[in-house]
Amino acid sequence: MHVAVLGAGVTGVTTAYYLAEFGHTVTVIERASAVATETSFANGAQLSYSYTDSLANPAFIPKIPSLLLGLDPAIRIRIMRNFSMFPWGLRFLAQCTRAKAGENTIAVLKIALRSAELLEQLHQKLSLQFSYAAAGKLVLLASPRDVEAAKLQSALKRQLGCETHVLNPDEAIVKEPALAFMRQDFAGAVYAEHDHVGDAHAFTRGLSDWLQSNRSVEFDFDRDISGLNVNEGRFLGVQTGTGTIHADAAVVCLGPWSQQLLTPHGINPMLYPVRGYSVTLPPGPHAPTVSITSLRHRIVYSHFDDKVRIAGFADFVGFNTSRDAERISLMCEIAKQAAPEAADYDAKSIRPWGGFRPVTPSGQPNVGPSGIDGLFVNTGHGSLGWTVACATAESAAQAVTNSE
Ligand SMILES: Cc1cc2nc3c(=O)[nH]c(=O)nc-3n(C[C@H](O)[C@H](O)[C@H](O)COP(=O)(O)OP(=O)(O)OC[C@H]3O[C@@H](n4cnc5c(N)ncnc54)[C@H](O)[C@@H]3O)c2cc1C
Repeated sequence: MHVAVLGAGVTGVTTAYYLAEFGHTVTVIERASAVATETSFANGAQLSYSYTDSLANPAFIPKIPSLLLGLDPAIRIRIMRNFSMFPWGLRFLAQCTRAKAGENTIAVLKIALRSAELLEQLHQKLSLQFSYAAAGKLVLLASPRDVEAAKLQSALKRQLGCETHVLNPDEAIVKEPALAFMRQDFAGAVYAEHDHVGDAHAFTRGLSDWLQSNRSVEFDFDRDISGLNVNEGRFLGVQTGTGTIHADAAVVCLGPWSQQLLTPHGINPMLYPVRGYSVTLPPGPHAPTVSITSLRHRIVYSHFDDKVRIAGFADFVGFNTSRDAERISLMCEIAKQAAPEAADYDAKSIRPWGGFRPVTPSGQPNVGPSGIDGLFVNTGHGSLGWTVACATAESAAQAVTNSE
């Protein structure tokens, strides 16, 4: 089959890989001039296989008033002129029960564990260079209550073969001595030895180069997708500013922009673009080698090659980017206060970046048939798109193949 993959982020390029492995001819259509220029460009770099905990959970509800009043510096919610947030927000709130949070965490954990296996296989087979390393990860817990909740989650995850350990602060410092130099006020930490670090942009670029040299995969850059040709419930082609591209099937991997393309065809993937930021700095005198996630500050620190990537924050402001500089500066200030020795905050270039996470209310990605014959989706990966890329791409490619 000739399959069009819409979007060349980490999701689109891994989808192209598995489609090619299943024997299809693939055209990847992308509006930018290169792969991974949007949300897959400079994310937190964590392959966070063990930390799939649902953002929608009962503990979120009591925080809502303070979030709406802007009292958490890491989250900005702009309600006015942001009407698409209402239906999404109501569905998100419906996921904030203990049962739903458990279901969503486990569903994403299963995808992440499969993805870990697949990425390892892909790494062995293709030898791509993307700073891939088994760094391990420590999630710093803010309160004794969070520690108790983490113990329950850890026991649940262990049943699925995911080994995490809840440590007290002294034990966490033994795992990562640089924590002693971080003014992180934490009550405990979850340690995941098997979590990895890796540069999503380098991976996506390396994989796309490999596909162009070794498989029937063509990249059609600088093509803005404006719509889909659908007739009597059957996909026929992709409309672009410079003509229609015909294919037997298409997989929509446009991150949060998938929403605009699919809604006119009666498909609502329920995606909200949650803005986050990163900076990439030279390491400081006590840079952690284990990836660190601070739940209190909603900031992650990842160390790969000669860089420290600091990423985080969650802004519900639609596709608005007008306050990026201010938000990045605030994130750096908080990161520096918490971990003054982790990075060289005075470096000449901090490589500031912002991206839109494609977030569904449940945190589970939308993968598979769309309801229109020949049209498939692979999006909604939220904060874990790099972590789950291989497994969701394999599922999407499998769904296309099964439809033949
Ligand atoms: C601050 C931050 C930190 C993060 N940290 C991590 C992390 O540590 N680990 C992790 O696993 N995940 C992390 N994520 C999430 C992860 O980066 C995303 O889930 C993932 O990159 C999404 O990939 P994607 O390919 O679906 O979307 P994108 O990378 O956004 O790709 C979508 C592509 O579609 C193209 N496109 C859109 N509209 C059109 C159009 N009309 N025509 C043609 N092309 C179009 C875009 O140009 C883009 O190339 C983080 C995200 C953020 C914002």
